[in-house]
Amino acid sequence: MELDTFKHKRWRTEMVQKLADKGIDDRNVLDALVCVPRHLFLETMLDYMAYEDKALPISCGQTISQPSTVAFQSQLLGASPRMKVLEVGTGSGYQTAVLCAMGLTVYTVERQKELYDETIKRLSELGYKAKCFLGDGYAGLPEFAPFDRVLVTCGAPQIPEALLRQLKPGGVMVIPVGNGRQEMLHIVKQSEDIRDIKVQKFGDCKFVPMLEKLNY
Ligand code: SAH
Repeated sequence: MELDTFKHKRWRTEMVQKLADKGIDDRNVLDALVCVPRHLFLETMLDYMAYEDKALPISCGQTISQPSTVAFQSQLLGASPRMKVLEVGTGSGYQTAVLCAMGLTVYTVERQKELYDETIKRLSELGYKAKCFLGDGYAGLPEFAPFDRVLVTCGAPQIPEALLRQLKPGGVMVIPVGNGRQEMLHIVKQSEDIRDIKVQKFGDCKFVPMLEKLNY
């Protein structure tokens, strides 16, 4: 596997500086982005683009979210170290690694077997200790609930009820909701009742769709 060279570190520092200039001000998020070698989550061919603010292709026709989206979603979580977070849509594992680098205890679910296999190998080689699952994110991980935070990195047609159920009272879910294009939602579950939620909208976005069932 290719190394994290001086050149990559310089590109990465410049990328993070640009994100800070654009208004990302959660120190823990910025520090995590400085640490995680995004180019090692991509095919070598795309290495030179890894630190541009672009979504790029990964296996199975999926995409790694663009750095500003990863930074924005991570900041919206309002998480503090040691919180338990559920990520839906492991993909390349880049966002997963950023959550780990933020000091969170990370559970992540992916529905595509090929991506899941690739990504558990990559995360363990790079030393990230996320708990990875092959499964349907619509169902979440009831056996490991409740979670302090839920982060969805694919576009959901609506807010999945199972995920709301698995959130602690006072917990936060960050999720892009809509068909085709989505709106980034920040949801606070205010009590045990899943209808008792406060929803704030944070603008338009475009994610690959959240699909049902596993793909082997
Ligand atoms: N966080 C990822 C983003 C990958 S794109 C990264 O940093 O690379 C979104 C991912 O969500 C894709 O890998 C897709 O296969 C996955 N996905 C879509 N629907 C899903 C579902 N119902 N459950 C779990 N994963 C899902």
